Amino acid sequence: MMKGELENGVKRVLITKEEIDQKIKEAGKKISESYDGRPILLVSILKGAFVFMADLCRAIDVPCEIGFMCAKSYYSGTVSSGIVQITMDLEQDISKYHVIIVEDIVDTGRTLNDVVKLLKERNPISLKVVTLLDKPSRRIVDFNPDMSLFTIDDLFVIGYGLDCAEKYRNLPYIAEYNTENA
Ligand code: 5GP
Repeated sequence: MMKGELENGVKRVLITKEEIDQKIKEAGKKISESYDGRPILLVSILKGAFVFMADLCRAIDVPCEIGFMCAKSYYSGTVSSGIVQITMDLEQDISKYHVIIVEDIVDTGRTLNDVVKLLKERNPISLKVVTLLDKPSRRIVDFNPDMSLFTIDDLFVIGYGLDCAEKYRNLPYIAEYNTENA
């Protein structure tokens, strides 16, 4: 099964592409039903959430717009720096939208806690957070996403947009990172 250089960092596959597809289909349906007829802006936190955003927006069958922000708390490797930096901001005036932040993973909760605070100051009509992965056992700040597709243990994961030192984002599944490869 494991072939080629791309899989070198994979210890084991945690969530398959099929499992991800199924959950995204359900999440897209829920979002379409609860926001039907309202101006939706999906805000993706780059870079990790770009793959999730691409699949989630296509699972939503009501009109929506997309926007991107870059917020970083990990610089390289598997250790969090604890500093959140907004390196690229949205171009939209979010006061006209129901905003849904689309995130790859909630770990300590610091990134989203700060991003939510920042966006609330801009008075969106409403603001919710949907995350692909949640690691509740790692939480440092009191933050909970409104929707989370998978809850995982305290593992460092790669694939489906998530990296380790900028690699492995193009794996189609979520895998536990093989630290022996570091
Ligand atoms: P938080 O601020 O919640 O601690 O961190 C959120 C960010 O840390 C995520 O958006 C992601 O970029 C990074 N992160 C947290 N856990 C993991 C992980 O297991 N794998 C990868 N690749 N990134 C992670």
